[in-house]
Amino acid sequence: MSFTGSGGRRILIVGGGTAGWLTAAYLGKALGPGADITLLESPEIGVIGVGEGTFPTIRATLKFLGIDEAAFLRETSATFKQGIRFADWLHAPDGDRRHSYVHPFEAPFQTEFGSLVPYWLAQAPGTRAAFAEAVTIQARVADAGRAPKTAGDGNFDGPLAYAFHCDAVKLAGLLSRHAIAGGVAHVADVVTRVEVAPDGAIAGVQTRDHGRLEADLYIDCTGFRAELIGRALGEPIRSVRDQLFTDRAITAKLPYPRATAPLASYTLATAHEGGWIWDIGLADTHGVGCVYSSAHLDDERAAAILHDYLGVEPGAIDTRSLAFEPGYRARQWIGNCVAVGLAGGFLEPLEATGIVMIEAAAAMIAELLPPAGPVAAPARRFNALMAARYDTIVTFLKLHYALSRRREPFWRDNADPATWPAGLAELLDQWRYRPPGRFDFTLDTETFAFFNYQYVLYGMDFGTVVAAGRNAMPGVAGAERQFARIRSFGERAMQDLPPHRDLVERLRADP
Ligand code: FAD
Repeated sequence: MSFTGSGGRRILIVGGGTAGWLTAAYLGKALGPGADITLLESPEIGVIGVGEGTFPTIRATLKFLGIDEAAFLRETSATFKQGIRFADWLHAPDGDRRHSYVHPFEAPFQTEFGSLVPYWLAQAPGTRAAFAEAVTIQARVADAGRAPKTAGDGNFDGPLAYAFHCDAVKLAGLLSRHAIAGGVAHVADVVTRVEVAPDGAIAGVQTRDHGRLEADLYIDCTGFRAELIGRALGEPIRSVRDQLFTDRAITAKLPYPRATAPLASYTLATAHEGGWIWDIGLADTHGVGCVYSSAHLDDERAAAILHDYLGVEPGAIDTRSLAFEPGYRARQWIGNCVAVGLAGGFLEPLEATGIVMIEAAAAMIAELLPPAGPVAAPARRFNALMAARYDTIVTFLKLHYALSRRREPFWRDNADPATWPAGLAELLDQWRYRPPGRFDFTLDTETFAFFNYQYVLYGMDFGTVVAAGRNAMPGVAGAERQFARIRSFGERAMQDLPPHRDLVERLRADP
C-alpha cells in the first residue's frame, strides 16, 4: 500500500496524463499535509499525447506550482502563444481572396467613456483597421513575429497576455517530476477492476501488481477510458454532437524546414470543407491536426486535406488518427469519485479548452473538498459549475462556426440555428444592436470573457448597428486619439519586443 499515513485525506489519482499529473501537483501544493496523494498510472496504456495549445490561465497555475518559466520552456519544447489566427472561416478561399482574423489574448484598450468598440463600429467599414488591430497592439506584435515579453520580464509575467504551445507528453513529464518532488507517491500499474460498494461508492481498485488500493477520494484521470466514472459507475457522456459536429482528428508532427525558421506565436486555425486544421509551432517541431466531422467527411478525404495543406504526398509523413465524442458527463463527481480531464469530458480542440478545464477542476477540488467530513459534500456544486462551464464553452465554440458564410454541407449545417445551443440566437439578436459586454455572462461559469466574443464576432464581419451614429457618441475625439495611440504603441512594441524565436532560444539557454 502506497499511502504514507500522514493522517490527511487519502487521495488516489488514477491516470498519469496531463490531467492526472496536473491535478496531483496542484492538490499536493494546495492541500499540503492535509492530503496523502498517490498517482497510479499504466505506462503500457500511455497518454493521449495531444493538447499542445494552452490558455493564459496556465501561467498562474505553473507559477502557483513553483515552476520556473525558463525550465518549463526548455523541458516541454514550449513557445509563446498570443492567440489564434483563423483563416478561411468566413468564406472558402476564392483565388487570392482569403479571409483571416486574429483572436488575441489581450483585452481591448478602453477610452475614458469605457469600451472602444462602439467607436470602431461607427467607423466606415472600408476604411477602418481590422478589429483586433484597432483595439489592441497584440495582433500586430504577433503578426510581426515578436514575443509578448522580453527576457528581463518576470517569471510568467510580461506586458502582454500570453499562454504557451507545448509538447503534451513532455508537459505531463515535467508535472510528474514536480508532483513527485512535492511528495506525491507514484505507482506504475494497471487497474484491473474497480470495486463498487452496495451504496454506490468506490470501495477500492484492484491492480495487477500492487494488489488492492483504497482511498477516501478517487480521482479518475484515465482519459477517454473513464475507468471509474464511466465503466465502473456508469455515468454516461452527455453528447453535444448535434451542436459541435467534429469528432475526429488526424495529427502529425513535422520538423521545421530550417533551424532558424521564424516561430509563429499564435495557433493557426485554417477552416476546410468539413472542419479545420490546427498548426502549432513548438520550439523544435510543429504539430498539425485535421479536425473534422465524420458525418460530413470520410477519413480518406480528411487525410487528403491534411496532406494538401502540408504540400506532401500521402504516406510521406507519419500520421495518427483519433476519435472523440464531443460532450461531457453531467455528473463528474459522484460520491467519493471525481473525474478530471478527458474522463470528465471533451468538446473539441478549437480554442484549446482541454487543459484549462483541468486547471479549473483541480482548483475547484482544492477549494471545495473539506478537510474533514464527507468527501461527497461538494459533488452537487462541482457538477453544476462544471456543466455550466462546458455549456458556455459550447456556445463560444459554436459561435465560430455559426457566423460562417461557407457553403459546404458542414458549414451550412453549422449556420442552421436549429443546431445552435440554447441562448446563442438570443445573444446574437442583442449583439445586432450593442457589442457583447460583461453583463451578458456569469463570471464563475465562463472560460471566455465578453471581449473574446467581440474578437470572434467582429473578426467574422458581424454587423452591430450603433443606432445613434457617430455624432451622438460622447467621446469621439478621445476615441480617435486612443486608436492613434494604440497604433503608435504597436509600432514601438514591435521595436522593443524581441523576435519570438530569439526569446525562446535565449530563455531555453538560461541555466
Ligand atoms: P490521457 O492523456 O489519455 O491520460 C490517461 C491516463 O490514464 C494515462 O496515464 C493512462 O495510462 C492511464 N490509464 C488509463 N486506463 C488505465 C488503467 N486501467 N490503469 C491505469 N492507468 C490507466 N487540450 C488543450 O488544452 N489544448 C489543445 O490544443 C488540445 N487539443 C486536443 C486535440 C485532440 C484531437 C484531442 C482528442 C484532445 C485535445 N486536447 C487539448 C485535450 C487534451 O489532450 C487533454 O485534455 C489532456 O491531454 C488530458 O488528457 P488526460 O490526462 O485526461 O488523458
